[in-house]
Amino acid sequence: MARGAVDLSRRGFLGGGFLRVLAGGGPEAPAAEPEYVARVLPTACIAFRGTLCVTCVERCPLPGAIALERGRPRVDASVCDGCGVCADVCPAPRTAIVRAPRSA
Ligand code: SF4
Ligand code: SF4
Repeated sequence: MARGAVDLSRRGFLGGGFLRVLAGGGPEAPAAEPEYVARVLPTACIAFRGTLCVTCVERCPLPGAIALERGRPRVDASVCDGCGVCADVCPAPRTAIVRAPRSA
């Protein structure tokens, strides 16, 4: 099939090509890297001071984007899409996780 053409065959449909077209992307549209990523601020995060806190990990909608490592949150920038949910729900007195530009 020619480059850029849409595969509407049964195989192409079942392989997700049709869904990608409906979503606005071509069959070979590369996924753009998100503009933002979550960054933990250790000086503000209560988990870094020995308090059990898993709010950001529990509320993150993207499996694997943030996990606890020895009781402390760690963001996997290759998974995180920078949605900012973690920053919205962080219970620390000073918000301890922020949505930051990837380029910063
Ligand atoms: S910004 Fe969104 S995807 Fe990234 S760690 Fe926070 S809640 Fe998860
Ligand atoms: S929710 Fe906030 S205080 Fe709790 S572990 Fe995550 S970044 Fe730290």
